[in-house]
Amino acid sequence: MSRSSVVLLTNLLLTFCFTGCDCSSNDAPSPSVEDEVVEEEAQHLSEMPPESDNYILQNLTIIDGTGGDPVKEASVVVRGGRFDAIGPTDEMDVEEGMEVIDLSGHFIVPGLIDSHVHAGQFQMRLDSFLKQGVTSIKSLGDRFPSFLETVEEVTDEETSIPRVFIAGPIFTAPGGHPEATLFAEQPLLREEAVVVVDDPDEARNAVREVLDGGVDLIKLVYDDIWGEYERLDRDVMEAIVDEAKTQDAIVTAHIGSDEEAWEVLAAGVDAMEHVTELSDETIEEMVKADCFWVPTLAVVDAQLDSIPDSHMDSVYRAATAGVDIVAGSDVGNPGLSPGYSLHRELRLLVEAGLTPDQAITAATYNAGRFLGEDIKVGLVAKGAHADFLILDGDPRSDIDLLSRPRWIARDGEVRRY
Ligand SMILES: [Zn+2]
Repeated sequence: MSRSSVVLLTNLLLTFCFTGCDCSSNDAPSPSVEDEVVEEEAQHLSEMPPESDNYILQNLTIIDGTGGDPVKEASVVVRGGRFDAIGPTDEMDVEEGMEVIDLSGHFIVPGLIDSHVHAGQFQMRLDSFLKQGVTSIKSLGDRFPSFLETVEEVTDEETSIPRVFIAGPIFTAPGGHPEATLFAEQPLLREEAVVVVDDPDEARNAVREVLDGGVDLIKLVYDDIWGEYERLDRDVMEAIVDEAKTQDAIVTAHIGSDEEAWEVLAAGVDAMEHVTELSDETIEEMVKADCFWVPTLAVVDAQLDSIPDSHMDSVYRAATAGVDIVAGSDVGNPGLSPGYSLHRELRLLVEAGLTPDQAITAATYNAGRFLGEDIKVGLVAKGAHADFLILDGDPRSDIDLLSRPRWIARDGEVRRY
């Protein structure tokens, strides 16, 4: 990558803001085009969505998100918002009172998860994610506790939004990103959207405080942005990770270089965000450590118009070596819009050399496991949340079919947009 690309890339990862503004977007079709598409598509699937919370979808092909072989001629029972039974159609009993819907020729996949968003910018229109098939989002850096309270209020009043997982404030060093970069001139954000720590005990207390306050995971920044800014001391980073693990919470790290990847791996983080180039040695360590990687290709694409070959190659090498790749778009940055940006990320993962199956897994099963096995999202399996998309073609032959779902369901409640 040329030095100018590097500088631009560095800048873009600094650009997300926390002001609650709705940024303009470039990757969404204009409303008129979008309406036409919806109208045309609505004619294809004649079945009406189920109206009750106890139904069976018959004669589907199941792509369960894990990367396993699709199951044809299958049926899926949904009851009370969960997948209750799954199996071959001819072996599945239809209980009395169950709504029966024949979806011959269609495919079911888990609802999609965008694992890197800045949802605070879209708090008044979180439904935009769901309309594009994104049934869960992970928001990585928000005002605390105000954003958490907003989401709780919206969730109570509005069912047509995705499930929102929240990291809350970002842990960083004094003089580190984003405290000394994006927030340098924004006292409110320095107060509420970052936790600045330079002492292990202080760090442990802060981790306990935000977890007690209801956040779902911890995000730290370990990125000196080409030597310009401060990074957390190793003992402070270890204290953050250790305290989070004591509280059964996951930790993800924003990093900027291969060297920083080694440091955060040594501290024991569960996942890494960004970083444009990883060595084979680092990739090997990530596999050993079961460390997830969210390479955020869409935000790079939006800013640079083309992604450096080294970034695409790193994603391919990591996936091939067995690193669990997770799809996250970093929407909230200029040029990206809710939902559409995840489909862009999926296309880019395929361009990088992942199979469509691997890309689907990155936005479903891997993303769900990243959040925790007990969360039960991102897969079509008995007991999981019934978050799903109904497609009229095989997304393994065309990843873009995921962006044109016929039905979208969260917790079993089906919507047809
Ligand atoms: Zn971000």
